[in-house]
Amino acid sequence: MNAPTTPPAPDASPAPIIEIDAISKSFGTFQVLNGLSMNVMPGEKLALIGPSGSGKTTILRILMTLESIDDGHIRIDGEELYHMPKNGGLVPASEAHLHRMRQKIGMVFQLFNLFPHKSVIDNITLAPMLTKGTSRADAEARAMELLDMVGMADKAKAMPAQLSGGQKQRIAIARALALSPKIMLFDEVTSALDPELVEEVLNVMRKLADETDTTMLLVTHEMGFAHDFADRVLFFDGGRIVEEGPPEEIFSNPKEERTQSFLKKIIAAGHRV
Ligand code: ADP
Ligand code: MG
Repeated sequence: MNAPTTPPAPDASPAPIIEIDAISKSFGTFQVLNGLSMNVMPGEKLALIGPSGSGKTTILRILMTLESIDDGHIRIDGEELYHMPKNGGLVPASEAHLHRMRQKIGMVFQLFNLFPHKSVIDNITLAPMLTKGTSRADAEARAMELLDMVGMADKAKAMPAQLSGGQKQRIAIARALALSPKIMLFDEVTSALDPELVEEVLNVMRKLADETDTTMLLVTHEMGFAHDFADRVLFFDGGRIVEEGPPEEIFSNPKEERTQSFLKKIIAAGHRV
């Protein structure tokens, strides 16, 4: 006999995978975020756009637990990120809690940060072996699948210095995927690349978006890519979401003056929308 199960109510909407609830963050006396709230649904692809200094990187770094928050709450997959339950209340998260939560999230940065003295495959297997206790054989088998996905299977034994910037970013993406995160964060991952190398990295992200249900948050100045990729675009300015909506709305018919002038500037700078 099957165990009784409770089917979800037909109208139940899924819970957000990321809930950002009134977070604030200052660096010294400078307040970057002041009561920011936003939700992300499982599998959603978000593009975060906005002028330099608007807080986009800070938000991703906070989600990755590379920066702390001063106030507010973040829940990932229904679990508090910076707090833990204790005696019916919440207390600040321990390092062990942060470590466990961090494994749900992968991040790729603007500047390739591969370990320079490790081969491509060792770059990818290191975290699963160290943090999850995965055997070398299993970690390498998974790494080869990921290298295949990013079109770099023939470079498994190469050293980072032998790779182009585009190849390094594809390895950085494979490395971040090695812990099978539910959420992937991309911070201007093509900004430091020569123009002819941008497309190969965008293609990997496109593939990830098309072929997996990974929740993806992407900070980018590639407006053409954001247009095709994103389910929702959020325009940030001064640490706030000034405007958000589907790409066709934000790019073709932005309502806010600040969004309009930002898009004008970015087109003038040679970016495609
Ligand atoms: P964006 O990614 O949108 O360009 P950031 O999140 O990097 O913006 O930065 C937002 C603001 O916070 C900027 O004014 C930046 O100078 C400041 N900032 C970011 N990180 C630090 C830090 N570690 N110390 C001091 N100020 C910082
Ligand atoms: Mg940034």
